[in-house]
Amino acid sequence: MSKIPLAGVIGCPVAHSRSPVLHGTWLRQYGLKGHYVPLHVEKDDLPHVLRTLPKMGFVGVNVTIPHKEAALALADTATPMARAIGAANTLTFDDGLIHADNTDGYGFLRNLRDGAPAWEPTNGPALVLGAGGAARAVIVALADAGVTQIQLSNRTRARAETLKAELSAPIDVVDWSDWALAAQDAALIINTTSLGMAGQPALEFSEGLFNPRTVVTDLVYTPLETDFLRQAQGCGCVTVDGLGMLLHQAAPGFERWFGYKPEVSEALRAAVLKA
Ligand code: NAP
Repeated sequence: MSKIPLAGVIGCPVAHSRSPVLHGTWLRQYGLKGHYVPLHVEKDDLPHVLRTLPKMGFVGVNVTIPHKEAALALADTATPMARAIGAANTLTFDDGLIHADNTDGYGFLRNLRDGAPAWEPTNGPALVLGAGGAARAVIVALADAGVTQIQLSNRTRARAETLKAELSAPIDVVDWSDWALAAQDAALIINTTSLGMAGQPALEFSEGLFNPRTVVTDLVYTPLETDFLRQAQGCGCVTVDGLGMLLHQAAPGFERWFGYKPEVSEALRAAVLKA
């Protein structure tokens, strides 16, 4: 009898992760055999855990903060995308090997194209706010899609300079105090900072900042409609919330582990939002 496939999400902390609800909803919806569980793993335990999970019937895992870089380093093979981003969020165990991928950039672009179908990489400069882990994936995805000018602004300028040095992308670093100026000419603005998230300070900007031709997206999805997106809507911009990125980044892993290509639907959005 074939084994029931197991998968999960490794993080520290991990209790807040919506991935178990997301994958659980798909498993039920498609009537598939399998389980997806949250796995709290401390940093020092990661190498041992990753070598042990396949022996326990795990076919793969998602990886979240703070393990994404370490997971890539521990993998036996990695996709060009994971290498370009410098981090892994999706591991597949096969034939005793760990295969690493990063689907965050894919999820970001799918969500952007769903929410703003008129946006094209050639429309003009993209302004990325923030230079953390999420920004890395967004920048690599934008460059890969053909965006030829990426303006990058971060509170800690040195971190933006590091991304410029490490990523193969057309990046111009903009001072944090000047991002509103860069926003005037941007075809696309992406908030990848944690500002605006429930419990965090808001992202500060002046009224009427946005040009109505600019597409504005926020990676924050709690709340779904941030002040940033609300202001942009008020200026007539097309806006895209961050939930779709979370849903789309999960699909490639689900397909590899459970053998079924899942759909990102309104019902899935509702189930994950309710969790
Ligand atoms: P991270 O690596 O910790 O980076 C945090 C970023 O926020 C840094 O650029 C940091 O700037 C900036 N920041 C934090 N507090 C700030 C403040 N008070 N003023 C100005 N900038 C501030 O986190 P991450 O993994 O990139 O995640 C960032 C956000 O994206 C989180 O809200 C996360 O939930 C969201 N996210 C969403 C998805 C999705 O699927 N929708 C996926 C990944 C992440 P400094 O460098 O100056 O500290």
